[in-house]
Amino acid sequence: MVAGAQDNTDARYDRARIATLIQTDQPDDPLAILRPEVLRRTAKSFLRGFPGLVSYAVKANPAPDILNILVQSGVTVFDVASVPEMTAVRAVCPTARLHYHNPVRSMSEIAQAKALGVASWSVDRMSELDKLGELPAGTEVAVRLSLKRGGGAYDFGSKFGAAPDIATELLRTVAERGLTPALTFHPGTQCTDPTSWADYIAAAAQVAQRAGVRLASLNVGGGFPSLPRGGAALRQSLFDTIGAAVQTHFPDQPPQLWCEPGRAMVAEATWLLLRIKARGDGVLTLNDGLYGALGEWRDMPVPSRLIALDTQGQPVVGTSQPFTIFGPTCDSLDRVPDPWRLPAAIAEGDYILVTGAGAYSLALVTPFNGYGTRQLVNLESLPEHAGQCRLAG
Ligand SMILES: *Cc1c(COP(=O)(O)O)cnc(C)c1O
Repeated sequence: MVAGAQDNTDARYDRARIATLIQTDQPDDPLAILRPEVLRRTAKSFLRGFPGLVSYAVKANPAPDILNILVQSGVTVFDVASVPEMTAVRAVCPTARLHYHNPVRSMSEIAQAKALGVASWSVDRMSELDKLGELPAGTEVAVRLSLKRGGGAYDFGSKFGAAPDIATELLRTVAERGLTPALTFHPGTQCTDPTSWADYIAAAAQVAQRAGVRLASLNVGGGFPSLPRGGAALRQSLFDTIGAAVQTHFPDQPPQLWCEPGRAMVAEATWLLLRIKARGDGVLTLNDGLYGALGEWRDMPVPSRLIALDTQGQPVVGTSQPFTIFGPTCDSLDRVPDPWRLPAAIAEGDYILVTGAGAYSLALVTPFNGYGTRQLVNLESLPEHAGQCRLAG
């Protein structure tokens, strides 16, 4: 079956299981619903489709269930930004290879990371390279390059990354110190523009040439988009663009290619099931909001991902209207910036299913106002329900 058709079948199957869950449990707290089959398939699509090696950026979703499934699917390298992320990874995979690609660290973090045997470090300024001190000969140090160009939903180059001149100097110094020279970049999250990667790969080749260094590896970052439809096909075309750009710009001795997706690996694999606590005139108060799993909606709303369900788990039908959306806390900032268009008939006690919500959702939940406990429900661990049989027809 082609990937898109398999996605649709999985989605129908999972929707039926969620309807049964609603009928039996009437869940009142927000639920994160893990779709393991989708996560396995996405991991495979990266491992098979990307023309290099694959690591997972833990910050997108560090839930142990997610890390476990990724490890079982063959992902054993992790991009980590902090010591707690390192220990979370090692707890599920003691032999995991760690890429510490947060380029700014305290002395204490460096010492702990060395003790944990980090395999690759990224740097974007000389002072942070110096701060790393003695590293075992041959340790990989990846210089983080930034081109100050757009392409993603927001700009990752505004915080980290060295401009090409500084990157050249850093790369040369890394090689002189007997470390393994690498380059890394991040085109910006939810990036749909293939020229972002192609431009970075061209710039990386120039930096390496000007530094007079043969790159051992090139890490093209995360940034791969997650889309409600056609995501896998777009991703494969981005992989093909990346592979072709590396052949063009590194014709002899191409570096080992790496990617480190966060969002695209996990977004489709988790849905959020939220409930309406109260309905006012054109206003809905939900059981989750900006201090919870909807934190990213402030910057990156995805209105096409909302499905209204009644208390039997069936779609609410009829004409739609805009609703102002408030979260459950007592803070008036706990409000989704743009109204949601939902069926006018939606009522208190009904549900809203937010699909494709596995990235930067649970990871952002705060305990503010006593909210913030989160249950991750694994669809495969639910008992076999009659709901599944309805799909056969
Ligand atoms: C956040 C991050 C990623 C993952 O980015 P996505 O847009 O979620 O794919 C990868 N690498 C680094 C260094 C990051 O900080």
